Amino acid sequence: MSTGENRSTISSDERESKASRTRGKSKAEPMTQNELNRFRAILTAKVVELERFTRHREGITVERSADQLEEIQAASQRALAVSNLDREFNQLRNARAALHRIQEGSFGICQECDDDIAPKRLVAVPWAQFCIRCQEAVDRNLEEIQAPSPDLLGRAA
Ligand SMILES: [Zn+2]
Repeated sequence: MSTGENRSTISSDERESKASRTRGKSKAEPMTQNELNRFRAILTAKVVELERFTRHREGITVERSADQLEEIQAASQRALAVSNLDREFNQLRNARAALHRIQEGSFGICQECDDDIAPKRLVAVPWAQFCIRCQEAVDRNLEEIQAPSPDLLGRAA
């Protein structure tokens, strides 16, 4: 008759394994296969989405219109479409490159300084190819290229 023993002694600390996840390494170890698979899935979805987008927009028509105003509007719409398309093509290329890096085993490593890209950054931008510091440097350079100095423009006129 003494089968009614209390079995409520589960509260012992068996959660020690949690501590083994925080290893004190400064150089992060390679990503787990699970994480890589997740990034691969995200990137593949992105590539599929962008491929559909860019294919859809391939036929940016060049219509001639008799109405000058219409023509100007059409031209600016075309310019917008082209720049959107340009951006999407860029993203597509970046996403494909990131998939390639997953295959190569260099995913998550800055292509510039070989440092690890912060995991948080990868979650936000899975196709990031640079760490945040190098990315900022690249962005600064791009701005300079995209905005030619007024001096150059003045001479061309
Ligand atoms: Zn870097």
